[in-house]
This record gives sequence, C-alpha cells and structure tokens, in this order.
Amino acid sequence: MDYHKILAEINEEVSHLIGKGKVADYIPELAKVKKDKFAIYLLTLDGKSYETGNSQELFSIQSISKVFMLALMISKIGKRVYKRVDVEPSGDPFNSLVQLEHENGIPRNPFINSGALVITDMMLSHFENPKEEMLRFVRSLAGDDKIFYNEAVAQSELRTGFKNAAMVNLMKSFGNIKNEIEDVLELYCYCCSIEMSCCQLAKAFRVFANHGKGVVDTRQYISKSQFKRITAIMLTCGFYDEAGEFAFQVGLPGKSGVGGGIAAIMPGDYSIVVWSPGLNENGNSLVGMKALELFTTKTGSSIF
Ligand code: GLN
Repeated sequence: MDYHKILAEINEEVSHLIGKGKVADYIPELAKVKKDKFAIYLLTLDGKSYETGNSQELFSIQSISKVFMLALMISKIGKRVYKRVDVEPSGDPFNSLVQLEHENGIPRNPFINSGALVITDMMLSHFENPKEEMLRFVRSLAGDDKIFYNEAVAQSELRTGFKNAAMVNLMKSFGNIKNEIEDVLELYCYCCSIEMSCCQLAKAFRVFANHGKGVVDTRQYISKSQFKRITAIMLTCGFYDEAGEFAFQVGLPGKSGVGGGIAAIMPGDYSIVVWSPGLNENGNSLVGMKALELFTTKTGSSIF
C-alpha cells in the first residue's frame, strides 16, 4: 500500500474544506485556535509511520482523553467500572443532560461527558494524586514523557463548564458521584486539557490497535478482553450522536474531541490520527471526518 501517496491525495482533496466549520468557542481558550490546521499521522503495527501537515503540533485532545480515563480505571478496578456507567450509544450530544434523569444518574456510556465525569469520580476515589496518575498513564501509552496539561485551557473550561456542573450535580443527587463536585469538575477539565500531537496520539492508540500488546508498564494491567471491550465502545459511542455516521462513512473504531482531533484504529493493522480544529454541528472535526472517510475508501480498510 502506498500510504505516502494516499495521504498526499487526501491532503489535496480536503484542502478546499480546511478552515470550514466552527472551533469549540464555548471553551474561550479554544476559540483562539486557528482553523487552518490539518494533519494526519498514520502508524502501522510493523512500526512504519506516514504523515502529512502539522502532525507534530500540539492540540487539545479534549474528549479523546475519555478513552485513556476509561482504560486507566479498567486497569485498576476492572469490570466494576461498568456498574456505574453503561455501554449504550446515547444518540444525543456529548453534553446532553436529558437521559440522565430518566436513567437514575447512570450515564449511557463512558465517552459522553456524564460518563467521563463518573469515571473522573472513580479516579478521585482510587488515587492519591489522580492528576499525576493520569499523566503518567498517558505518557506510558505514548512512550513519551513530554505530554502535559494546558493550565489555561483547563481553567478556561472550569470557568464556563456550566453544563458539566449541572451533570455532576444531577448525578450526585442520584448517589452516582462520591467526591466533592468541585474536585470532579477540576480533574475532568484537566484531563480534557491534555495537549498532544497527532504523532503522540497515534503512538498512544497503537496499543488499542494491537489488542493490548505493548503496554510495558507493569503497574498497568488490562486484559485482551478488556481492550476488545474498550474498542467496542469506541465504535458504538466514540462520536456521540454521530457514532452511526462514523461507522457508516469511515468504518473504524475511534474517538473524537472538540479540539478537532480524531484517533481511530484498524485492529491488527494501524492507528491513525487526524486533526483539524473546525468542527461540524455535532462537535466532530469536519475535515477530520472527511479525511478518514477518504483514507478507508482509498485503502479499502474497514472492520466490516
Ligand atoms: N471538555 C469538553 C467538554 O466537556 C469535551 C467535549 C468533547 O471533546 N466532546 O465540553
């Protein structure tokens, strides 16, 4: 497969879309990000990499962190995680509150905000220093110590995250939040604020493409079966109310974030990360979705 050529073609074919869409300006700090960015980083399991665009530039991973948060808690308490958060697609926006009341404060899945807030609560209960633990975990997956939180982004979201605050309060009223509301919100915003490049993210997602093989840190244990389950949730819930569309157009498990990143994997074959900050109306990268659709079409790869 001539991946160099395919990435160059994609770059060309999406160029008229770059700059379209809307940045996530509900987090004021993210409103400052320039829309004219575009990058792809592809990492195959035989160790080769291919890139185009600003693939070493750092961006806010936002909800892509939800995959790492879930994996971290699975590595600590295993399937008990799923007692407090379900694994059904929500069919609703990532920050929706509507199902939570009907469903007694149990979020539909760990990849929408309410679900990740419950995972955050578990992190607070489990770790002495969850912020450090999270960073250590992400660094170990990526094999890179130069991964950090962005203070300004975290504080900016903390000041304006009224819907997330509403969700935590509602879930607390149902007994599904054990820690202080302020602590949950703070840790959640920090996790979302992690900055990584397409290259670093592709390295961190490699282990998901490789059925869990390659976690070198022995403090972390996630079974092959648990990796398979996390991947299943990526497919069914990784794109909020656009999960069906992503499976239909792209055909890979993945996870998006409002920073404009999308990480996806082809199990047994590769991890691929795209970034372009302009979002569509569902909060997913407009160019990123198109680029991945072109990639799986041109390479003929799909899990189906
Ligand atoms: N930090 C963002 C929020 O809670 C994450 C949302 C996302 O990336 N979809 O609104």
